[in-house]
Amino acid sequence: MNDETLPKVVMPRCPNRQLLKGQKALVTGASSGIGRAVAVYLAKEGADVVVNYVAGEEQAAAVVDEIAASGGRAMAIRADVSSEEQVRAMFRQMIDAYGTIDILVNNAGLQQDAPFDEMTLSQWNKVIGVNLTGQFLCAREAVREFKRRGVVPEVSCAAGKIISMSSVHEVIPWAGHVNYAASKGGVMLMTKSLAQEVAAYRIRVNSICPGAVRTPINTAAWETPEAYAELMKLIPYNRIGEPDYIARTTAWLVSDDADYIQGISLFVDGGMTLYPGFAVGG
Ligand code: NAD
Repeated sequence: MNDETLPKVVMPRCPNRQLLKGQKALVTGASSGIGRAVAVYLAKEGADVVVNYVAGEEQAAAVVDEIAASGGRAMAIRADVSSEEQVRAMFRQMIDAYGTIDILVNNAGLQQDAPFDEMTLSQWNKVIGVNLTGQFLCAREAVREFKRRGVVPEVSCAAGKIISMSSVHEVIPWAGHVNYAASKGGVMLMTKSLAQEVAAYRIRVNSICPGAVRTPINTAAWETPEAYAELMKLIPYNRIGEPDYIARTTAWLVSDDADYIQGISLFVDGGMTLYPGFAVGG
């Protein structure tokens, strides 16, 4: 069957319908890359957004301005997600300003790569501290508020939604990046265990697992034609991901359109997890 003979299915979409109208969202690490795109897109879908950042106040302010310029509402809050005190202060500030939180996107993350036998304890602790403990600290504050407030049916069928920004490396081992892969493997089981624990409160918790997305975290993997060609060997869809792809997926997964989805890892990776080497080998 070729494309001409396939029935055409056009999904109707009401242009005036905003998926997240009236909801309050916090996006961590939102001054760049995927977090920035998610913050902008959630605002486009009607959410009021907190743009968390740890460094780069001007970049965070630019995200807030971009949202305001298209009629949305946003504020920037500085906090290191690996600090319990700063995370608690950030949630207090958000709840004082917006009244509550409906959506947490646990996006902040970093890499500190080294061959395993040269990896310092500080590199290990930094990556686990931000990528895993940071997600724990933010998720805990969000769950406390979701449980306190419960479901508000006019806002959403769920009492709250959490997205853990994971990675294909929650399942693909990654030599030279053992701390990063360990952190994302931890994120996977934290997300699924938490989803199991809080489902009865109608709190939804899911992971999004990007493949290779064009952001500052992985510049070396795409900035030269040689590096890009090497990268394409890992991506059956033969194209690098853009931050906006992750943003659109996030908006849908936290919306009521995805209300029955709980505890999944949603891979947005152009097929990177399909063992591309087996397309020609094996
Ligand atoms: P990025 O470097 O542009 O964004 C990461 C953000 O996290 C930055 O804004 C950074 O300042 C922030 N951050 C770092 N430490 C922080 C801390 N202690 N507190 C608060 N914020 C902190 O890179 P990105 O690609 O947009 O990464 C976003 C997320 O997506 C990360 O969790 C990353 O692991 C994940 N991811 C990215 C890719 C990719 O290919 N780009 C693939 C898989 C997963």
